[in-house]
Amino acid sequence: MRALRLHGPGDLRLEDVPDPVAGEGEVLLRVEVALTDGTDLKAYRRGHPVLLGPLPSPFGHEACGIDVATGRRVVVANSAPCGSCAACARGQQTLCESLFPLLNGAYAELLLVPERIASVNLLPVPPGLAPEVAAMAEPLACCLHGVEVASVARGDTVAVVGLGPIGLMLCACVADAGGRPVAVGSREERRALASAFGAVSADPAGADVVIEAAGTVEAWVRALELVRPGGTVLAFGGLARDARVDIDPYRIHYEEVRLVGAFHHTPSDFRAALAFLASGAFPFERLITHEVGLEGVAALFTEPPRDYLKAALRP
Ligand SMILES: [Zn+2]
Repeated sequence: MRALRLHGPGDLRLEDVPDPVAGEGEVLLRVEVALTDGTDLKAYRRGHPVLLGPLPSPFGHEACGIDVATGRRVVVANSAPCGSCAACARGQQTLCESLFPLLNGAYAELLLVPERIASVNLLPVPPGLAPEVAAMAEPLACCLHGVEVASVARGDTVAVVGLGPIGLMLCACVADAGGRPVAVGSREERRALASAFGAVSADPAGADVVIEAAGTVEAWVRALELVRPGGTVLAFGGLARDARVDIDPYRIHYEEVRLVGAFHHTPSDFRAALAFLASGAFPFERLITHEVGLEGVAALFTEPPRDYLKAALRP
């Protein structure tokens, strides 16, 4: 089969590799559509602390495909918690001690799903839901997890800093949780699009909750500036492993600002995300701005067009 493999930062190669073969409990998918996302773009540019295993690595982790054995259309998450380690026992499935390696390899004609993921985090796509929308279940699950961790309450004003696909999904999740998302980003067209995902026009300064969704040091700092005393900052966007953020301790101590992180998703989040997509409550299809084949990903990541949010890759 043809598969994209990442050999190092900026070095993505389309290769012929042997077709994977499903063993006991494993599921082989014929990939209908894979989606590009910001995490993949970061990994392409600078490597990634947890996304990929040893290089060269299979690449891509948002996929919808057909189960070769049954003919069912399914979506699959990029991990599944073990259910038996100390973190899982505490209910902190996102910190499962055997979460890694994450599943990569969606940028290929075939994707082999390991047994644990196949049994926990492989779901049939509801009838009528387009495969490219269903494939958003994984990132949307991360966003649902983040909104839960941030304890967004009904009526909260929630500033979302960063209006990429994740920021826009977060706006929808905040709105669905009863909060008032306020989109913070420099680009007018993105703020306009955010309104389709529930964002309202309001001053983000003094927000009850601020969600950092840009994955930059500057956005972390901005989030800590915007939040009201006693409010919560959710650090959603991951930074490079050696990044450091200059945090004002006055805000944390004297103003009781709560700084919390959220990473990844749980099986419950993944199920909820797929149902949320199928509900049609928000126009998630508008997040897909480009279509590519396997040969088009490197060029897209090297020079993303200005209007690029996500690309649907059909191998
Ligand atoms: Zn575990």
